[in-house]
Amino acid sequence: MKVMKFGGTSVGKPERMHQVAELITKDNEPKIVVLSALSGTTNTLVSISNELSAGEKKKAKKLIDDLEAHYHNFTTTLLKDEKLQEKAKKIIREHFEFLNIILKISFSDALNKDILAQGELMSTKLFSIYLEEIKIDHLLLPALEFMRIDANDEPNLKSIKSSLAALLKKHSGKKLFVTQGYIAKNIRGEVDNLKRGGSDYTASLIAAAINASVCEIWTDIDGMHNNDPRVVKKTRAIETLSFDEAAELAYFGAKILHPTCIWPAQQSHVPVKLLNTMQPEAKGTTIQDEVETKGAKAVAAKDGIVAIKIKSSRMLLAYGFLRKVFEVFEKYRTPIDMITTSEVAVSLTIDSTDQLKNIIKELEPFGTVEVDKDQTIISIVGDHVVEQKDVLNKIFKSIQHIPVRMISYGGSRHNISFLINDADKNEMLQAINKGVFGL
Ligand code: ASP
Ligand code: MG
Repeated sequence: MKVMKFGGTSVGKPERMHQVAELITKDNEPKIVVLSALSGTTNTLVSISNELSAGEKKKAKKLIDDLEAHYHNFTTTLLKDEKLQEKAKKIIREHFEFLNIILKISFSDALNKDILAQGELMSTKLFSIYLEEIKIDHLLLPALEFMRIDANDEPNLKSIKSSLAALLKKHSGKKLFVTQGYIAKNIRGEVDNLKRGGSDYTASLIAAAINASVCEIWTDIDGMHNNDPRVVKKTRAIETLSFDEAAELAYFGAKILHPTCIWPAQQSHVPVKLLNTMQPEAKGTTIQDEVETKGAKAVAAKDGIVAIKIKSSRMLLAYGFLRKVFEVFEKYRTPIDMITTSEVAVSLTIDSTDQLKNIIKELEPFGTVEVDKDQTIISIVGDHVVEQKDVLNKIFKSIQHIPVRMISYGGSRHNISFLINDADKNEMLQAINKGVFGL
């Protein structure tokens, strides 16, 4: 059995949805199809929620009405059969009635989650009616019946596995299942979600739970590229990556794959394929256990980083110093991305400034604290990346004109990272594309 996940743009227009139906019926392997909300929908739902929590009911109402009109138009093009059109419109009306009722009651966090869930609920129902129109036997499997998150808002894979197994057993005659990405139930039994972009995560969790043959993530580009196409002219798709390499890239800015989605597939050894709905024949990128080639495969950038340096002569030959520093970050639940140390100073980076003031205040007793904002981490990723002949030489040669604030290698062998000013990001990505990748 395999998992196929289609993102917002892949279902965002009626003709795209038609194409998705073609793609999922190309082979006979049983499958679970995971869909996102139509593109733009979740953003609009977030705006509706924001307006409601600000008490702006009129503005919320306008957003709701516009979105409803969009769905009615969508339905008219998606379906030909008038009876099925009516069926779909009735479902849409029900979802929007729900949103209109929320307008009248007082807003809460649980309601917010209910609002956000509407996108995936509608996209899957519409798709299911389209499959009915073209007479493709399938079953709509409600994600809220098996996707669970625990008290820490983390997916409960064990529970997902057993609930899903029971559901699939109950419907063992079916070969095609359609379900919602992103949404889940929490431990209080309320509707919740896996955070923005979480449909990839759903797909990977399902793939792990059923031990799928493959987890296909269908988007609108032909796989992960070696560099950011918005910044450099020429990039190439990467054919294979190991899970570790992909995790570094997904985390350091390659937007195509949600970083959380690696571990479930990796843990269950299910290969993940990144494929392009607009170009289904393209090879895409396969992410798997084995590493096929060594050396630099890609570069990614993450901007908006803050660097913090703590300098103290007390660090000299002392032990326990780093623990105290780390405890401050733990206390304020702020993850550290990059870290370098010298005998008298430690520099580290964070990507969220929410708790910066508190963190600095608690670090100050340890020594001199310096903060640099507007920094970018540039990561060059690949198995044993700098142990390949000449790679380090090429990197340094190509970036010799760019001031570097920190360098980190050795945490893993898949990644060498540089911290630079945001202002130098584009120049650095271009220089590496030329000097390291020869593009
Ligand atoms: N619809 C959700 C979002 O836009 C989940 C997803 O698309 O992955 O965040
Ligand atoms: Mg999306």
